[in-house]
Amino acid sequence: MKILVGGSVAIDNVKTPVADESNLLGGSASYAALAAAKLSAPVHLLGIIGNDFPQEHLEMLESHGVDLSGLERSDQPSFTWTGEYHENMNDRTTHNVAINVLEDWQVKVPAELADSPFVVLANMAPINQLQMLEQCTAAEKFVVADTMDLWITVANEELHEVLKKIDLLVINEGEAREFSGTNNLILAGERLLAKGPQIVVVKLGEFGALLFGPEGAFFRCGAWPLRELADPTGAGDTFLGGLIGSLASEGATTPTFDQLKQAVVKGSILASFTCEDFSTKSLEAAGKSHFSDRLANFQEISRW
Ligand code: AMP
Repeated sequence: MKILVGGSVAIDNVKTPVADESNLLGGSASYAALAAAKLSAPVHLLGIIGNDFPQEHLEMLESHGVDLSGLERSDQPSFTWTGEYHENMNDRTTHNVAINVLEDWQVKVPAELADSPFVVLANMAPINQLQMLEQCTAAEKFVVADTMDLWITVANEELHEVLKKIDLLVINEGEAREFSGTNNLILAGERLLAKGPQIVVVKLGEFGALLFGPEGAFFRCGAWPLRELADPTGAGDTFLGGLIGSLASEGATTPTFDQLKQAVVKGSILASFTCEDFSTKSLEAAGKSHFSDRLANFQEISRW
């Protein structure tokens, strides 16, 4: 079943204690689309790039089954993000965000993609998320959205609009605390549910994720225990893509809580690959057997 992933498609320059690399493939939608394509097909990417975007990144995405017919090309420079991770890789400094093509972007969903039953509003301005969603016309669809601290501050009202129109919100723990006004993550999850979505996932970085569902349904998922991290950029976006890929592979537009639990676990496993190398390199290299071995092992270390 068709998955439509909209969000940023970026050039990233990333420094971590391991290395300093530039001109990397980045962007919320790039990671999410690639992760979704690991588990389901077809996956369609919706975004905008500039005239300086490396062709090799596009070829890589296509070679992994991501359809780029919804990717707009502009004469301006691409959206570019430059950031640095410190010794504790939970700690990140953004050095520069060049908005460029995203500045005046008006999202256009191609007619042939408008009926996608799985819609991913990856991190982008809430106004763009709303534009995308308005053009998604499937009578029965499952819509997930991600966001970031910036939008909680500068586009709070639009973000609240988004929340009323989606099925599932994915948000990291710091943002969940800020957005809900409480430090208690259980209360935060519940308060976010009250803002609209039926399901909320709070990401806990190296500690996994919390899943909040209807009628008090709750699940705590761990994270794969990684010994070495090279670059955690995009782990959250990979998680989002893995989650939707899992649901789409089962055609679950009205997922059961069990299907949601499986989806969260698979998202968490795919995110662990992303952290092992810069950009999408390790995710690209993760074959079906790497994934299923890690999944089986994860089940072993998680049950008691
Ligand atoms: P994450 O590590 O999950 O927070 O996602 C990192 C990705 O988000 C990077 O590849 C960036 O290119 C992208 N990104 C950073 N800032 C923004 C922004 N303001 N809007 C959209 N995407 C962004």
